[in-house]
Amino acid sequence: MEFINVQTSKRTEFIDITESVRSFIGKNDIKNGLCLLFVPHTTAAVTINEGADPSVTRDILKHLAGMVPYQGDYQHSEGNSDAHIKSSIIGVSEFISVEQGRLVLGTWQAIYFCEFDGPRSRRLGISFLSS
Ligand code: ZN
Repeated sequence: MEFINVQTSKRTEFIDITESVRSFIGKNDIKNGLCLLFVPHTTAAVTINEGADPSVTRDILKHLAGMVPYQGDYQHSEGNSDAHIKSSIIGVSEFISVEQGRLVLGTWQAIYFCEFDGPRSRRLGISFLSS
């Protein structure tokens, strides 16, 4: 597994990492198989969703915050329980098919690194299973 750095700048945000993953695929001359993305953090996540209209990620963040408020009946002493819960809801891995050197994504799909307890310096693991 190789890692790329992701610098976040807000407490919660979605960062479009599609081009970073595409350049990893290109740089490593990957042709056909499965790309695994893995977030080695407990308060961040990775997901695939709409890349054309920024209101979509805004709506996801807003409604996640409604479902899991920052302040609440939490016992975890770091004060970031909402971020841990959101990380588990969204998940820390994604598989994306690669065909003829290209990520197989739908027209409107983008890959997002999801920050829930930033700003921080984060890492995203990328590995590849060739077929
Ligand atoms: Zn914590």
